[in-house]
Amino acid sequence: MKRLFGTSGIRARANVELTPELALKVGSALATYTGGGEVLVAHDTRTSAQMLESALISGLIAGGCTVHRVGLAPTPVLAYLTKRLGMDAGVMLTASHNPPEYNGIKIFTAEGVAFPPKEQERLESIIAEEKFRRVDWRSLGRVVDASGAVELYVESVRELVSLSREWRVVLDTGCGATSILAPKLFRELGCKVYSLNAQPDGFFPGRSPNPTEEALKTAMDVVRGLKADVGFAYDGDGDRMVMLTEQGNYAPLDQSLAAYSDYILDRKGGGVIVTNVEASMVLEEVVEARGGRVVRTRVGDIAIVDAMLRHNAVFGGEPCGAWVHPQHHHAPDGTLSSLLVVDALEKTGLKPSEFLARVPVYPVIRRNVPCRNELKPKVMAEVEARISEVFAGVSDVLKVDGVAARMSDGWVLIRPSGTEPVIRITAEGKSEERARELADEAIRLVEGAVSRA
Ligand code: MG
Repeated sequence: MKRLFGTSGIRARANVELTPELALKVGSALATYTGGGEVLVAHDTRTSAQMLESALISGLIAGGCTVHRVGLAPTPVLAYLTKRLGMDAGVMLTASHNPPEYNGIKIFTAEGVAFPPKEQERLESIIAEEKFRRVDWRSLGRVVDASGAVELYVESVRELVSLSREWRVVLDTGCGATSILAPKLFRELGCKVYSLNAQPDGFFPGRSPNPTEEALKTAMDVVRGLKADVGFAYDGDGDRMVMLTEQGNYAPLDQSLAAYSDYILDRKGGGVIVTNVEASMVLEEVVEARGGRVVRTRVGDIAIVDAMLRHNAVFGGEPCGAWVHPQHHHAPDGTLSSLLVVDALEKTGLKPSEFLARVPVYPVIRRNVPCRNELKPKVMAEVEARISEVFAGVSDVLKVDGVAARMSDGWVLIRPSGTEPVIRITAEGKSEERARELADEAIRLVEGAVSRA
């Protein structure tokens, strides 16, 4: 059977691959897995939410589960409440930043952590074998309204963040899952909020659910036009955020991550920061200068959270804007991240541009080399074997996700794409020239390996 769960759960086109029949099976499998336990269910703003939710809930109650239905909520809120309410599992129906025709199913453990690969496999084999728990008519499950529980999340964030000045904040929620919650939270904390695209809408009419620089032109203009203090935008399900500076500029993602890591380590006096293999080398620079340590993982928040728990990390995040704050919970949280950034700005007395400027931005070059899927293992084996001889002065080779080689003035990452017939190359150098040199060398290495494979 083709694997159902990827790095972020199940994700596919709604009513094409991700059908009500599949959602029903996932519900039945989770009822089997939890032995008819208590399950929290929420969804984002997609048009397919009701269709998939109804089918999923049918499977759950057929297996004797009590379903606590939150309704519309960001993924991190579902994750937080799963643990807080003592649920056996949580299910988020979302395709995050994917186009509107997609949807997905992401499952969380009782601890409010995204299902690790091992648990996903268990669920997959229950689905494959179709040995579903079916209860007697007298013990069928039921659905309970849990929409009020979102207030518990709001209260918990208010306990964590308090602001003393009236910040003028632009929020572009993109018609996604944070549309109601993010403006509400900022207002409750005393901010003057200017919200854009804050009507939940599964067609995402305002902008793409992926908060790229291109998608945020309007938000950037609004920050500039209103002379706001700062702006934030979230992805479709609200586990990621990006910052817009007081000048209305898109904050470089690696720079934001490093600047916030620097701030946290300064306050905590050191500790472990977790990030993925794709993040800039500036992370090590900043973190080691503060007496901290960087742990690098595979791409995906499941790997980040797993490493954070194992290393007792003080902070973790990916350069896509998915940041995890362990003092609150162990799921990336866009709304919380943006509030904590404002908190950091207030405590440091810096403007967003000044907060970022404490950390340098190094040039990064990304290239793809075509490679048929079946050749990838052979190509990657050769890349692994030769990488330290091809690049001069390699101090460290990391093999957690593809192969990365670190040097004093740059690094390269060579990683097979999980979805396309290409090998992806990322090269970063302290100068444009060095980055290009490293990218060219990596392309030669991969193309040579592909030609021999
Ligand atoms: Mg997301």
